[in-house]
Amino acid sequence: MKFKFLGTAAAEGVPGPFCACENCRLAREEGGRSIRGRSQALVDDCLLIDFPADTAYRAWLGQLDLLKVKHCLVTHNHQDHLYPEEAAMLQPGFSHPADDVPLTFYGTADTLAPLKKQKGAVESGRIVLREVVPFESFTVMNYTVTAFPANHGAVGSAFYQISDGKTTVLYAHDTGYFFEDVWQWMESNKPQYDMITLDCTGGAFPEGFRDGHMRLGVNREVADRLDELGCLKPTARLFVNHFTHNCVSTHSELCIHADKLGFEVSYDGCELLLNT
Ligand SMILES: [Zn+2]
Ligand SMILES: [Zn+2]
Ligand SMILES: [Zn+2]
Repeated sequence: MKFKFLGTAAAEGVPGPFCACENCRLAREEGGRSIRGRSQALVDDCLLIDFPADTAYRAWLGQLDLLKVKHCLVTHNHQDHLYPEEAAMLQPGFSHPADDVPLTFYGTADTLAPLKKQKGAVESGRIVLREVVPFESFTVMNYTVTAFPANHGAVGSAFYQISDGKTTVLYAHDTGYFFEDVWQWMESNKPQYDMITLDCTGGAFPEGFRDGHMRLGVNREVADRLDELGCLKPTARLFVNHFTHNCVSTHSELCIHADKLGFEVSYDGCELLLNT
């Protein structure tokens, strides 16, 4: 499986476009991996996770080929994960598709609600909305996907497990420490993760960030509990992702904190080849 992090910041991005704080100043100075856009990832060039406002720009830059993407998992309807107005660009007149295969969005009913308002795209059949129910696995192409209820502010928030039968990844954004019913599912089903990526909005903050979002210390608790339940392969790669400028300055500084707790730090464009 090829897994690519396209965007690794929280809503405002890093640096915040209008922000003059010291963390943003340092991020601008370091550049490169310290510059982070809105949350998004791509599996095997064809399965997109989330649809923020940065999506079109990534396609223009050649980081993402939207002509190859026919399926998109949506975690929740916060603006940095779903920018529904962009789906209107699929409607007749705004695009001339190469084929008649629609773009299917997957999410809970609450998450998909803003996309339903994109009448031109929905009524032309250019986008299809498929509701998912937490804990009920479903098939997307050759992937088995399971949604979990996220400990997050937006109603209907979910995070996803994606498996191609050989490689299984857990994409846990945005969420705080997992709900107990998620832990019970993990204990019963014992997924074997090759890679997990956890919400780290709180960066290296020493406290807080247990509900809604997480920080490195809480990420470690999640990884330890998954390990105790036998859900992490011995070779599993542990990533942190989804950072805010309030808690993060540069990529290099974040790596120092994350490394101490056994995590790798994602960055925009970070590409993993898992079991290939
Ligand atoms: Zn977010
Ligand atoms: Zn800032
Ligand atoms: Zn959110």
